[in-house]
Amino acid sequence: MALLAHKTALQPTQAQRQLLNQHCDFARNAYNAAHSDFKAGLEAGEFRSVYDLKKLFNQRKREVFPDICDLSQNAGKNAIHNFHDAIQRWKSGQNHFPKRKKHNSRSSFQIDNGVDSVKVSSEDSTHVILPKIGKIRLSEKPRWTGSVRRAVISRTAHRWFISMLFDVDVPDPPDTSALPVAGCDVGISALATMDDGTVYENPRALRTQERKLKRLSRSLSRKQYRSGGWWKAKALLARLLMRITHIRSDAHHQATHRILQGISALGIESLSVKGLMKNRKLSKALADASLGGFLVKLKYKAVRRGIRIVEADSFFPSTKRCSSCGYVKQKVSLSERHYHCGVCGFEADRDVNAAINLKQVASSTDETRNAVGASVTPTGVGWMRGRRKIKPNQALIHFATA
Ligand SMILES: [Zn+2]
Repeated sequence: MALLAHKTALQPTQAQRQLLNQHCDFARNAYNAAHSDFKAGLEAGEFRSVYDLKKLFNQRKREVFPDICDLSQNAGKNAIHNFHDAIQRWKSGQNHFPKRKKHNSRSSFQIDNGVDSVKVSSEDSTHVILPKIGKIRLSEKPRWTGSVRRAVISRTAHRWFISMLFDVDVPDPPDTSALPVAGCDVGISALATMDDGTVYENPRALRTQERKLKRLSRSLSRKQYRSGGWWKAKALLARLLMRITHIRSDAHHQATHRILQGISALGIESLSVKGLMKNRKLSKALADASLGGFLVKLKYKAVRRGIRIVEADSFFPSTKRCSSCGYVKQKVSLSERHYHCGVCGFEADRDVNAAINLKQVASSTDETRNAVGASVTPTGVGWMRGRRKIKPNQALIHFATA
């Protein structure tokens, strides 16, 4: 058994939207009440437990929410439990002291009360049944079947989503050992370049929407704080930011899906995204590509499909090394888009050469991630490898952001 999540959009009615918003307010209030009570306890030299915090909130909640009978009490209870978890992480030195929750365009609440308190409609699984709120239509059928362990409902801009955690019987991943090995160079100019020359383009969502983004942020800053126009401008900006995120993640899902088809292992470079972000010239383009999110998707999909991901050490010279004879150049500048080996005459696109190097790392290792370049066999001497471009599917982008 494994716990797998599926997040999908909800299609609530107008009345349900109002109820969902009330639940968000309720959960945020409970969290902030627990925050104040815990701080007051600390000042009095008392370390309040989660039960104390719940008791204190329950004594007062009717004053703040007169029509509390219409709301599921789980939203408040779970918020206090989440605050307590944050306190535990603070106590163990893992995190800073939790902050109070602000009212903004992103809010959420957790509505379940243990296993099976939230259910997917049994007839056709097109609806989810929530305590106190009732049946809400789902935008798509859940990917998994099984009991729902946890259900978190969230709002981003004007849309509502539900993330459900299912208890799933996962079949063993298929045996892929007979399939070929591939290499993949992850970068900024192209999202991913494969050793066979296939290029997955970066949608560069931020760059294409930058003018719109600037216009909307400027219009927001001109409005009077918390006036009617300010809220409107804020909502429009939130919608655009959500659209950018969706364009990006859609391209990532499509690329990772295609990359992992019909292979047994994939060689990649171990990218330290945090380290790269320190480079101020590159940081904007890097943040736009959000390579970290891409690698996360690549890795979890590989596990499910029984594909081995081989990360080359960070000092492996994937761009400097000639994939044909193994000669390592002293320096390759960022503007050099073409690799030419002065020793054996090998020529290739810079990223394709790097991808072939990474493929060789993947095929020369079994389970370990080192042994770099030691037993590498040269392939394809002296011929030019071209690039075949694949653009993210336009139709699907529209679907994801509609
Ligand atoms: Zn060479």
